[in-house]
This record gives sequence, C-alpha cells and structure tokens, in this order.
Amino acid sequence: MTATLGLITSALVWASDANNRKQVELDLEDQITPRFTRLNAEPDVEVSKSTEQSDTSPFSPPSFETTIQKGDTLSTIFDKFDIGYSQLLSVMEADLNVLALDTLKPGDTLRFWIDEGNGLLNQMEIEFSLAHKVRYERDGDNGFGYQDIQVKGDWKQQVIKGEVHGSFSLSANNAGLGSYQIAQIADLLGDKINFARDLQAGDEFGVIQRVQSIDGKLTGNKEIEAIVINSRRNKISAYLHDDGQYYDANGESLQRAFIRNPVNGYRITSGFNPNRKHPVTGKVTPHNGTDFGTPNGTPINSTGDGTVVMVRDHPYAGKYIVIDHGSNYKTRYLHLSRILVRTGQKVSRGQRIGLSGQTGRVTGPHLHFELLVNNRPVNAMRANIPMADGIEGDQIKQFIAKRNELDIMLKQLPTLAQSEGKEDNLASPSS
Ligand SMILES: [Zn+2]
Repeated sequence: MTATLGLITSALVWASDANNRKQVELDLEDQITPRFTRLNAEPDVEVSKSTEQSDTSPFSPPSFETTIQKGDTLSTIFDKFDIGYSQLLSVMEADLNVLALDTLKPGDTLRFWIDEGNGLLNQMEIEFSLAHKVRYERDGDNGFGYQDIQVKGDWKQQVIKGEVHGSFSLSANNAGLGSYQIAQIADLLGDKINFARDLQAGDEFGVIQRVQSIDGKLTGNKEIEAIVINSRRNKISAYLHDDGQYYDANGESLQRAFIRNPVNGYRITSGFNPNRKHPVTGKVTPHNGTDFGTPNGTPINSTGDGTVVMVRDHPYAGKYIVIDHGSNYKTRYLHLSRILVRTGQKVSRGQRIGLSGQTGRVTGPHLHFELLVNNRPVNAMRANIPMADGIEGDQIKQFIAKRNELDIMLKQLPTLAQSEGKEDNLASPSS
C-alpha cells in the first residue's frame, strides 16, 4: 500500500511539472484569473470550505514550511518531515473535492502544523499565490476538512497597445501581454480573424486588462476587459460583459457554445450541493459536481471545445480528465474506466474523451462531472454557460454603455485614435 501510494504521489507532482512545461511560454502564475466584477458586495476573502472552522483565526507559525522544487513528490516531502503516509492519504481524501494537490508545481509553498501533543499533522496549507491558498485542517479523529481561500485584492485597469511586427503573439508579448492572455485573445477572435494571414506589419491592437495586486504586490492574476484589433481589412473587437462572457461590438457571443451534459440519457443520481451532509458521518462535505448513473463503459463526451490539461489517476477521484475551455471555463470528469485522450490534446464539443467506470473511492459505477468557472466549482446543470445566443433585452443597453466606455479608453491610444478616421468599419450597435 505504502509503495503504491508513493508511486501515485510521485506521478502527481512530476506530471504536474510536465504539464506546466508543456504549456510552453505560459507564465505559471498567469493561469488563475478570478473575476469579481459582478460581485461588488462580496467580502475581501472568499472561502469555500467543507468545515465550519474559522478561516480568519490567526495561526501559530507552521512547524515546517517548504517550497516545491522540481522533482519533489508529496511522498518525499511528507517523508522529510516524518509525517506518515496514512496522514497524506487523509489529506488527499479531503482534497478529493478540490483536487488542488494535483496542481502543485515548483514554486508553490507548503506549510505544516504538527500537534505537539500527539505528533500528528493538524493542519496543512498550500500557497499557490498571494491570492489563492488551500488549507486542510484536522476535523475529528481521522479526517481532514478543507478551505479554498481566494483573496479579492485590488484590481487596476491597464491599457496596452501595440503594433504588429512579426507574429501577433510576438507583437502582443512585446507590448506587455502575458502568454495566457495572448492565447485567450487567439481563442476568442480565432473565428473572426486569421492571425497568420489577415494581419500585416503596422496593424494596431489595444487591450484593456485588469491586474490584481494584494498589499501592493502583483499576484499575476489578470483579466481582459476589451480587445480591439485594427487590421487593414477591418476592425475586430471583444468586450467582457457582466455575465463573465465575451461579446463582439454588437453583443453577439464570441464564445463557442457548450452542451450541458457529458452523457446522453442517464439520470442524475446526486446533484451539485455545496452543503451536502454525509449520510453516515453527518459531516458536511460539499458535492462539487453532478453524478450520473452511468454503467461501466459508457462513452463520456467533452461538453465544449478545449484542450486536455490533465489526465490523472487519483486514489479517491480515480482516473480523471480536466479540460480547459479557455475564457476561465474548465470541466472535470472523474471515476473513468478508460481515458481516450492525452494531455495537450485539443478536443471538440461532443467528442468522446473516455469511458465511465468506478475507479477511485466510489460505491458504484457513475460519472462525477464538474464545471469550474475561474477554478471554482459551479452547478453545471444550471450555470450560465456560453450558448450560441447574443445579449438580449435590457442587458444590451448595459453592455453598450460599458462598451462605449471601454472604447473611449482604447481610443486614447494615439495610434488607434489616428486610424479611427481612416477606417470606418466599427460595427454599430443593433439596438
Ligand atoms: Zn460526485
């Protein structure tokens, strides 16, 4: 058992490292982009958790702290601090609902608090960035609870402009855009413009993005609010609306539609429930996904276009797949019997990615399906996910007002303002 787990956890950290290297040129800290625009009233720290413990209680200094290095594994780290495998297993069990341990990468910090009385691990914390921590706290005799802590911080607008010289991504990078943002732009506007063919040297672009800082320190989190590309042929733009989705100047969706269900014709056996009480222990354990009663071998389909970013075998989640759909959407498919895709592979909506099963800790065969928006689980059966429609009704007025505001900011860029007179292809609102 011990040896098996050792292997599993080695694979976890190694594979995580390999994944990050595969997503070439991405800034690691660039990849989480929480959004808070439409949640003005929310507190500074947002915590989703499985326990009722306080998230603000001051801590004593940790017994141990370590920064993940390349080649580290959870088992070697636990070994180093003499924390037994059974405790690692307990933490992994609590992690089943967030799967944060599977995303550990070099540079992340781990902290451990050991109970001086009994020598057992009392608390463990992962610091992914100033803005994001996950904490595991002992919760009774054997188990741990978790808290997923995201700090709101301060978001400031930043206008970036540039001219195309060489490839768009190189030019955008020179202008100061991160790789994740560049990939996002390519993804959003890829249907409207062929970045390789349609752009010429001297074409201009502008981006408004919001940048997060906490206590004056940049966290690496960013969010694009508007994009404009002035090519010789036309002007293309994208705007972030209050619903968290991107639209063109007319309010037409720029995002590919999702399908709601990853399987066809199977009933939901357990719905999304952040306050689910365990039937036996009575403990509150969030159910961050939707379970479908699929027999072994049922084909599982990706609910949207995207890229496979993770393929894992987890002692509790079983064989599972994570797909990144761009623009802050991810989906996870757990307990599979077979995985039919590999990390880095592009998949399309409706594509078969695996077969359902009962791997990990389950009572019977089923599919556990999760939708994450900004790395936070939401109810996939109800969430406002991009569908093919544009903005409707009253929303369009609000959208146009904000669009005009962002346009004014973009026009303050000298080069873009100049070309405004020459090019008159700016789409006008349909209302
Ligand atoms: Zn489930």
